[in-house]
Amino acid sequence: SPVIVWVRRDLRLTDHAAFHAAAETGRPVIPVFIRDHTVDDLGAAPRWRLGQGLEVFGKALGDMGSRLVLRAGPAREVLEALVDETGADTVLWQRAYDQVSVERDSAIKSALKDKGIEAESHTGHLLFEPWTVETKQGGFYKVYSPYWRAVADRDVPKPLSAPSSLKAPSDWPEGDALEDWQLGAAMRRGAEIVARHTDPGEQAAQSRLGVFVRDRIDDYKTGRNMVAEDGCSLMSEYLSLGEISPAQCWHAGQRSIEAGKDGAETWVKELVWREFAYHLLWHTPHITDSSWREEWAAFPWNEDERRSEVIAWKRARTGIPFVDAALREMYVTGRMHNRARMIVASYLTKHLMCHWRIGQQWFEDCLTDWDPASNALGWQWTAGSGPDATPYFRVFNPITQAEKFDPEEAYRKAWIAEGYDSPSDTALSYFDAIPESWAITPQDDYPEPVVTADEGRKAALDAYENRDF
Ligand code: FAD
Repeated sequence: SPVIVWVRRDLRLTDHAAFHAAAETGRPVIPVFIRDHTVDDLGAAPRWRLGQGLEVFGKALGDMGSRLVLRAGPAREVLEALVDETGADTVLWQRAYDQVSVERDSAIKSALKDKGIEAESHTGHLLFEPWTVETKQGGFYKVYSPYWRAVADRDVPKPLSAPSSLKAPSDWPEGDALEDWQLGAAMRRGAEIVARHTDPGEQAAQSRLGVFVRDRIDDYKTGRNMVAEDGCSLMSEYLSLGEISPAQCWHAGQRSIEAGKDGAETWVKELVWREFAYHLLWHTPHITDSSWREEWAAFPWNEDERRSEVIAWKRARTGIPFVDAALREMYVTGRMHNRARMIVASYLTKHLMCHWRIGQQWFEDCLTDWDPASNALGWQWTAGSGPDATPYFRVFNPITQAEKFDPEEAYRKAWIAEGYDSPSDTALSYFDAIPESWAITPQDDYPEPVVTADEGRKAALDAYENRDF
């Protein structure tokens, strides 16, 4: 009888333990992707990007004589129906770590087992299972550096090879057509504009990683901070959808370390920030929804999204060029440079005194690399409410940060049109992407700051210093 591989955020064949195990059985394999509430709850850009990934992955399976069966509905019902229809006696998948998925998956595992079906989850989304990294006292880590020291010398198994073939069942179960799902429907911005900046799929991920370790990893230590430069790997959207595994990245990093490439260890440490984010997500799932340090729930952040400052921030018209450039980069490309993420998050939570959740949700709507763990940690780290957070008195100054990390103004010129005689094409593309209702044009004057860097810093420090906890 066939084996069902339940495909989720793991759109790859190489280093995929569930596909590997299914192929090893020598039995027919039925890959299925289920559009359940976890898909419908995604923000606009991640849902659109998922559609792009599914299209490429479906083709890759098709090229090897297999298929990706698409079904919609509650995952448990869909899997039980598929088991009945196909006579499959095994369902395999790769583990997820957010609370909603964990609860869903445990319930499905028991329900399938009760029916006499073998149900097994595999590792692969992470390098280190969150429950395997423990402090000497047997607890979990709340600070990155000791976490890093605890895992730095661990052996990470070499990536599994892709199955050379997947045996097809004699009859394929019916499935939906991807176009009918309209996964891009919620993109307020023109999806075709974001598509120019996206190259989905496993092969694209591999070749981007190859170019990064060949040409750029050496200079990563400094290059990673220069916002206008191509100094980072851009692996995050692939890692988010599992189009590449973290083990493939880790081993590429380790080979570069062995080859004496200067920035390689710094890069591997960044991969481990992702692990740390998942470690925290697993042990403290409330990190996605409420202040990680509970006392911070009492901090007087403004939660009113209708405030003009919040609208200006979302529309990238704060009057602070670095902040606006970064927010436009995200709107048009679906990604934002890491340093820029820290600056816009600091400006929202500190200069504008807005609740970090407003920013977290905006990122969730706009980022093609949206990741529940890294997004939540990034926001709470910047706001000061998270574990291992930046100290409250660290308020990033968006003016001096721009001077340091965008010294030639290249990033700001790439994304801001107002006030320039001949704006760049990328800057103009922002105006093609935004809704008409925003009523902003490239010919408008560039706005005065909604809150200046100095005023905002003072107000934030006053509020942070005078908090009564
Ligand atoms: P590289 O610099 O090449 O790093 C390699 C990989 O390491 C990344 O792909 C990523 O998987 C991991 N990594 C690097 N920095 C971090 C970090 N600070 N935290 C966790 N993992 C990291 N990352 C996401 O993937 N999705 C998000 O939704 C997300 N939201 C963020 C929100 C805020 C407010 C902040 C400050 C950071 C956020 N990050 C998020 C982390 C980081 O900005 C991105 O992972 C990084 O910019 C991706 O670019 P890259 O792949 O070129 O990274």
